[in-house]
Amino acid sequence: MKLLIPVIFIFIISSTSFAQSPAKNIVIITIDGTRWQEIFRGADSALLHNSSYVKDTSLMLQQYWHSDAGERRRRLLPFFWQVIAQQGQLLGNRELGNDVNVANLYKISYPGYSEIFTGYADKLFIPNLAINNPRSNILQWLNNQPGYQGKVAAFCSWRVFPFILDEKSGQLPVNAGYEALDDDDSTSILINEVQHNMDDKNNTRHDMLTYECAKNYLQQKHPRVMYLGLGETDEFAHHGDYDTYLQKIHQADAMIAELWYFVQTDPFYKNNTTFIITTDHGRGSRVGNWKSHGFWIKGSGQTWLAMLGPGVAAEGESKSNQQVYQKQVAATVAALLGVQFTARHHIGQPLAIVPVKEKEAACEIPAVIVSR
Ligand SMILES: [Zn+2]
Repeated sequence: MKLLIPVIFIFIISSTSFAQSPAKNIVIITIDGTRWQEIFRGADSALLHNSSYVKDTSLMLQQYWHSDAGERRRRLLPFFWQVIAQQGQLLGNRELGNDVNVANLYKISYPGYSEIFTGYADKLFIPNLAINNPRSNILQWLNNQPGYQGKVAAFCSWRVFPFILDEKSGQLPVNAGYEALDDDDSTSILINEVQHNMDDKNNTRHDMLTYECAKNYLQQKHPRVMYLGLGETDEFAHHGDYDTYLQKIHQADAMIAELWYFVQTDPFYKNNTTFIITTDHGRGSRVGNWKSHGFWIKGSGQTWLAMLGPGVAAEGESKSNQQVYQKQVAATVAALLGVQFTARHHIGQPLAIVPVKEKEAACEIPAVIVSR
């Protein structure tokens, strides 16, 4: 009897704290306009062989083609299929009936990112312009919670993000486009110099620069929640450059791999940090319309979701028949951190992603995936 009380006490403490907070830190990464087709099937044969979209088809075939779909997707996304598929979850393979969609009607970037971060598929249409979002979002909300103040940051390639994330009305720092960094460490000074000297600046910063900004911030400041928004995939897809679109997807996979390696070898982040990776919209599925997206192009609402880290069961590629929406991401981020995101608007339910053995203990985490 003497022993039993401390044993029960320890069990309650550990199971409760795990249930409340499966992860201590979160990194959210988006890869703009990247289709589920490339994530789950690898390079698309019809586009890869098409010289209108690929300048050197034989070289691209050598790099990204394989007749076996499993090998083909591993070539394009080695980290996704060698690490996330073993230790995390990949949702959105529609060939298996596993659907991820945007719930908003518009299927372009601003409404897509707004849905991800506000947890709400707004009927209000805001086009892809520098217009302030009236809805509150999970990053801004977390930045106002005890323990998170000054510990949330966003680094984005697309210059519209300060408006989508409503930087103006709060304390959330959003570095986007070619905005200079405020810090004076040697890496920030170097990035600022490179940016300052570039003459071909447009609305989307080079992803490599955005990534270096984010990685440096992670290493120097150890935020608890960080958002990395990559954007070049969508730019090259709109231009019809399927080769560069593939190269940018491959590059994003390598950046995520490097970031995960840093996290897992850093004492602050090791084994307590979860990655959530997704996209803002899909694109057309055919040779004639893959370049575009929007509510008039079929396939534009089809997305995917990858997750890795504490609180995410190591179930790999999800094969169950289910429907998940992007508006569930915000509440999922909150649930992983053991908090409940609240706003004036209705928020999508968090996903059921906790490991099976913790599911019973984690009764405080709402576990809802809408069945089809
Ligand atoms: Zn686009």
